[in-house]
Amino acid sequence: MAPTRRLTGFKPTGHLHLGNLLGALRPLIAAQDRSESIALIADLHALTMDHEPARVRALALEQATVMLAAGVDPERTPIVLQSHVTEHTELHYLLECATGFGEASRMIQFKEKSAADGPIRLSLLTYPVLMAADILLYDTDEVPVGEDQNQHLELTRTIAQRFNGRYGETFRLPGGVRPGSAARVMDLADPGTKMGKSNASGAGRIGLLDPPETVRRTVARAVTDEFAQVRRHPDQPGVTNLIDILAGCSGREPADPVSYGALKREVADAIEALLEPIRARYAELADDPAHVREILARGAARVRPIAAATVRRTRAAIGLLD
Ligand code: AMP
Repeated sequence: MAPTRRLTGFKPTGHLHLGNLLGALRPLIAAQDRSESIALIADLHALTMDHEPARVRALALEQATVMLAAGVDPERTPIVLQSHVTEHTELHYLLECATGFGEASRMIQFKEKSAADGPIRLSLLTYPVLMAADILLYDTDEVPVGEDQNQHLELTRTIAQRFNGRYGETFRLPGGVRPGSAARVMDLADPGTKMGKSNASGAGRIGLLDPPETVRRTVARAVTDEFAQVRRHPDQPGVTNLIDILAGCSGREPADPVSYGALKREVADAIEALLEPIRARYAELADDPAHVREILARGAARVRPIAAATVRRTRAAIGLLD
């Protein structure tokens, strides 16, 4: 049986953080033996909101470097910069021709992001169709999805099924996989919100390249509560998050009995144990950006034949003359 193909995407809109590591990178690294993973740096997706060109470029390279530093093996898991494989944009357009305006505008993320002040880019509306193209392009079997991406995966399946039904079998239908423990790392300063690259203050985010003193300070300042009980409980989102982070980083439950102070020290130690080697390896790799760029070029070359075959099939099915 062919190995399962899995696609994990990262948007270069900010520095990778602990949520990305526990929720996406570590599962990807753990699956390298069993599945044929592709790590996609989705730089085209970083253009859907107001952006700084130099920053997107720098973050794309930084993310590739962090992935390598964290243990992604480019021999087994191609690291692909989305814009290097132009088939993404070609398939995006072809899939737009099989997607309704209503469907796209009903996406919750579009509604949320377009509610903000300022001009809205058309690409924000069509972004889920580009995401569908990303997934379908590589005959992907599995996409790790958090709850907030479920709707996009559903749209991908709907578009693929509709296209297959109307124009003949063209796309493999992808399924979602839930990342295991620590599937949702919450913001340490605001445990009701997922830790994210663009959370307003950044006060509750642990960047994978943050220096040790910043990591310790961020954990020490994590929001807790008045219960003074170290337990997972819906009324204690901050403490629950700290316990989950400890488990995600070290596989351990808190020592018993512990105070919040002791819990935070344990959590900071566990995060540090995980980040210290990544930081060290990053420093080595970042010294040689040409090497990282070569790895990206090789990644694109590896997956391009799959992408080209999908686009060829799609063009023929939809009615374009070859
Ligand atoms: P993004 O940061 O939105 O580009 O997401 C990249 C990957 O990291 C996706 O697979 C997300 O599901 C995962 N991810 C992002 N934030 C978190 C978080 N706070 N907890 C767990 N996983 C996350």
